Amino acid sequence: MEIIDLDDHRKVWKTGAAACAACGHEWQQVYPIGAEDVGLECPSCGSGHGSVLTITQTAKRMWDAYATRLGGKNYKGEPLPSWDDLGDERQYCWIGVSEVTSDRIFKLEAALREIADGPRDVNKSYVSLLHEIKSEARKALGEKE
Ligand SMILES: [Zn+2]
Repeated sequence: MEIIDLDDHRKVWKTGAAACAACGHEWQQVYPIGAEDVGLECPSCGSGHGSVLTITQTAKRMWDAYATRLGGKNYKGEPLPSWDDLGDERQYCWIGVSEVTSDRIFKLEAALREIADGPRDVNKSYVSLLHEIKSEARKALGEKE
């Protein structure tokens, strides 16, 4: 008889921003790792043209948000370029920012999953649970308490 460890077969879930190529609708998607490229059903139009944003697509959104907050102008008052006109070198920098953010989210999700799957003391107060979660999150990110 073969013994199977169920933990080896559990899917690892992630969350991420998703967008529909058909209608442009955006939403937060929960998906098993590896299924990012599968056509997701759009909750708005029902088509299967949804996909989780890539690191580069997220970087573009970060750039767009940055440019919007600056009113579309640099420190000299000149117009900021669009993502497509930003150039490979600058895009590469923003992709780096996007990678750091994605990595932090991934580590936080892993820490939260561990807390959710771990043993729980039902007598603990909500506040002490929150402190525990914060502490685990800081540990996962390699930050000091
Ligand atoms: Zn749609």
